[in-house]
Amino acid sequence: MAPEPRTCVRVLVIGGGYVGLYTALRLQQRLKAEIRKREAEIVVVSPEPYMTYQPFLPEAAAGAISPRHVVVSLRRVLADCQIVVGEATSIDHARRTATLSTPATEENGRTEQLSYDELVLAPGSVSRTLPIPGLAEHGIGFKTVEEAIGLRNHVLEQMDIASSTRDPALRDAALTFVFVGGGFAGVEALGELEDMARYAARYYHNVKPEDMKWILVEASDRILPEVGAEMGRYTVTELRRRNIEVRLKTRLESCADRTVVLSDGARFPARTVVWTAGVKPHPVLAATDLPLNGRGRLRCTPRLGVDGVAHAWAAGDAAAVPDVTAKEPGRETAPNAQHALRQARVLGDNIVHALRDEPLETYAHKYVGSVASLGLHKGVAHVYGRKLKGYPAWFMHRVYHLSRVPTFNRKARVLAEWILAGLFTREIVSLGSLEHPRAEFELAAGGKASGDPKGSF
Ligand SMILES: Cc1cc2nc3c(=O)[nH]c(=O)nc-3n(C[C@H](O)[C@H](O)[C@H](O)COP(=O)(O)OP(=O)(O)OC[C@H]3O[C@@H](n4cnc5c(N)ncnc54)[C@H](O)[C@@H]3O)c2cc1C
Repeated sequence: MAPEPRTCVRVLVIGGGYVGLYTALRLQQRLKAEIRKREAEIVVVSPEPYMTYQPFLPEAAAGAISPRHVVVSLRRVLADCQIVVGEATSIDHARRTATLSTPATEENGRTEQLSYDELVLAPGSVSRTLPIPGLAEHGIGFKTVEEAIGLRNHVLEQMDIASSTRDPALRDAALTFVFVGGGFAGVEALGELEDMARYAARYYHNVKPEDMKWILVEASDRILPEVGAEMGRYTVTELRRRNIEVRLKTRLESCADRTVVLSDGARFPARTVVWTAGVKPHPVLAATDLPLNGRGRLRCTPRLGVDGVAHAWAAGDAAAVPDVTAKEPGRETAPNAQHALRQARVLGDNIVHALRDEPLETYAHKYVGSVASLGLHKGVAHVYGRKLKGYPAWFMHRVYHLSRVPTFNRKARVLAEWILAGLFTREIVSLGSLEHPRAEFELAAGGKASGDPKGSF
C-alpha cells in the first residue's frame, strides 16, 4: 500500500468494475505527465484483481468462452495506477479517509486507513434478495464469474446424478432448473444453459432433452423490458417453443428442502434455483457520510459529482444520475453497462477538469436499446429502433460485445474461442471438483474430504 504522508494529489477509486476500470483508465491517460512527475497518483481498490465483463457471463456458463477470457487484469490495463486488492468497509469523506479490509486483514485482523483528495465511488450493485425460505441455503446468483462457472458445473453434475440413479424423485429434482427473474441476466443465463444442456444430452444414454424441465419465473407480465414489449413477447414465444416454461405474474414463495413453491400454487422438487430478480446498490454505500436517495443509490448531479459534496464522484449501478435526455423530469439513468461505460469516461474527464479548474461536462446519453443472446445462434435485439430476431440478433450480440470487451488481447482470445467452437464440438465436461482441490489428498491422508457433496449448492 502507498506510504503516508504524501504531497501529490491522490484519486481513490473504489471498485474495479466497468466504472472503476474505465475511470481509472481515463485518468491514467489524461494525467500521464502528472503521474510521471509524481504530482498525481491513482489508487484502485477492488476485491478482485480483475474486472468482470458481465455480459459474457452467460456464454461463460455455456462453455463458449473460458472463464479467464471473461475477466480483464486490472494490473495489466492500469499499469500506471496502484491496485489494492481489498474492500472499502467505510468511508469518512469529511476526513477524506477510507477504511479498507485487505487479504492481510484476514491474517492479522487489522484494517488499513487510506487518505485521498478525490473519491470515485463505484462498488456497483448486489443481488436484491427477499426473505424466501430456502433461498439463502439453495439459491445461487448470476453476477460473478465464480457463480457462472459454478452453475455450469452444477447443471452438468445434475445430469450426471440423473443419469446414474434409479430413484425417479431424485432424477426429477436433478433435471428441474428454476430461474427467478426475467431480466437480462436471468433470460440470457437460462437461454444459454438450456442450450448447452440440450447439446450435452446427446452424450448421455439415458437423459433426453425432453426429460429436463427449465422454468422461468417472473413476477411481472413481461420479460426482457430492455428490448421493448414486442421483442419481449417474441422472447416468451421463442422460449416456450423450446419447451421452456415461462410463468409470468408468478413469484417464488419457497424453495426450502429443495421443494419449489410458486405463487400460482405449483409445487415441485428442484435442485437448482437461480436468483436473478434484480439488483440493489452495494451495501457499503450506507457506511459512508454521503447522501443516498430512497433506493440506496448515491445522489449525483448530471456532472457525476455527489450532490452537494465536493471532491466525491460516482457513476454506474451505485449512482442515481439524473437522465437529462428523458422527457419526464426526475428520471435516473438505468443500471446497465451502456451507461456505466459512458459515465466513466465523462467522470474521468470531469475529475481532470476539476483538478485544472476547468468547466465540467454534463452526462447525456439516450438509451439506444439492447441485444440479448438466447443460446447458440439465437437472440433478440432492439437497437436504434431496429428489431432483430434469431440468428441476426445473435450475430449482432457477438459483434457488439466483441467490440466492447476491453483490450485487444481479450478481443482476440474471445474471437479465437468462438472460431474454434464453430470448428469443433462443444465442451461438456463439468470441473466442479476444481472447487475442492484438497479433497483427494485429504482422503489419501486418512482425513474426511471437506467441501460440499457432488452437485449441491
Ligand atoms: C449476467 C449479466 C449480464 C449483463 N448484461 C448486460 C448487457 O448485455 N448490457 C448492459 O448494458 N448491461 C448488462 N449487465 C449490467 C452491467 O454489467 C452493469 O450495469 C455494470 O457492470 C455496472 O457497472 P459498475 O461499475 O457500476 O458495477 P460493476 O461492474 O459490478 O463493478 C463494481 C465493482 O466494485 C467492486 N466492489 C464491490 N464492493 C466493493 C468495496 N466495498 N470496495 C471495493 N470494491 C468493491 C466489485 O467487486 C466490482 O468489481 C449485465 C449484468 C449481469 C450480471
